[in-house]
Amino acid sequence: MNRSHSNWRHMAKIATLSAMTMLSTGVLTFSYSLWCGNWKNKGSVMSFYVNPNGADLPADTQERLIRDGGLQWDVQGGANFTVNYLGLTTRHAIMPSDGKCDQFFQPGSNGNALAITYCSGNVSSGADTEYLDAWGWKDGTNYDLQTVATHEIGHCDGLGHSAVGAAVMYASYHGVTRNLNADDKAGLQAIYGTGCNAPSVSNVSPTSGPIKGGTIVTINGSNFSGSATVEFEGVDAEVVQRTGSTQIKVKSPATCTENLLADVTVINTAGCDDTLADAYTYVANTVILTTDGDGQLQIGSGETFDLYGPSGKKTWIVVGPPGTFTKSGVTIDIGKPFSAVDKFIASCGKRSFTWTVAGSDGETLRVQGVVKTGSGSGAGAFTVSNYVDQIVVP
Ligand SMILES: [Zn+2]
Repeated sequence: MNRSHSNWRHMAKIATLSAMTMLSTGVLTFSYSLWCGNWKNKGSVMSFYVNPNGADLPADTQERLIRDGGLQWDVQGGANFTVNYLGLTTRHAIMPSDGKCDQFFQPGSNGNALAITYCSGNVSSGADTEYLDAWGWKDGTNYDLQTVATHEIGHCDGLGHSAVGAAVMYASYHGVTRNLNADDKAGLQAIYGTGCNAPSVSNVSPTSGPIKGGTIVTINGSNFSGSATVEFEGVDAEVVQRTGSTQIKVKSPATCTENLLADVTVINTAGCDDTLADAYTYVANTVILTTDGDGQLQIGSGETFDLYGPSGKKTWIVVGPPGTFTKSGVTIDIGKPFSAVDKFIASCGKRSFTWTVAGSDGETLRVQGVVKTGSGSGAGAFTVSNYVDQIVVP
């Protein structure tokens, strides 16, 4: 992309291939062009890295702007095509033969060019973009790095320039232009077809975790797009890491439903998803000690325990040596407690309980949170194994 209209350049010659599409509402003239092949021989998946080695913006900002620019083709393109962001690289040499599209900065300037995308033969064999560092890159104002990244990664997708002035693929910079124009979408869809490139979910690990959520769950499969989102039983899960197009790590969202068998869904774009049914089981929560960071209970001190519960369930914190303990007709496998705090969690979420330690020096006590699964008192014997063992100190 260039500052002015007069002087755009690419290493490979641009093949202009204009298209006209007739719609029932009239005639729309598209002016996109295609350039340097495409990724259909690689499953219609385009992969790119970012080297945030520019001088003008913080590295994490550079990464975000270039990444989000590239992913616009995934999010808005409406094509049977996946964009896969692979993360950071330190490469900064033009080497369009590695099957990836590296994005990096070069010092200085190169005529009027803001950035140049290079290709040799076919973008799927590799295509690299250099951003000229002389231009004072900005976030949201001129020269907006995300705007230029969207344009250059459009070249990586296999698009040439458009004659439509509002298009991202217009040859010259024309202000902040982060959203794809109809002409840009038509060009992408002309290459890859309309619809979506669906993901496939094969398994998740681990397959269970507590209802309070926050468990890091790895989702394995194929063809996950670089902007794919994940849902557990229809609830968004925060993405913490993506590894290529085959793995996403997320935090399990919280639920109020114990023993829930949650469907896990990966969504590339709206209507383009795959679900592994009953893939993840929500189990009882563990007890968390919040005041005793060294894993010890101190005699005479008030220790705080956190417990997350489902709504409307009887909840206890029980503390004592192993053995059998009966309370309100319920037998619990923890032992005769020094103390039992009986609480009722009316709404789903975290509750804290404080207990003053009355044990002996060196004794091991078992701390356990119990969520009663039956209704009313005396619901019968049951065992919960999510205890923690703590040593008592003076
Ligand atoms: Zn260009």
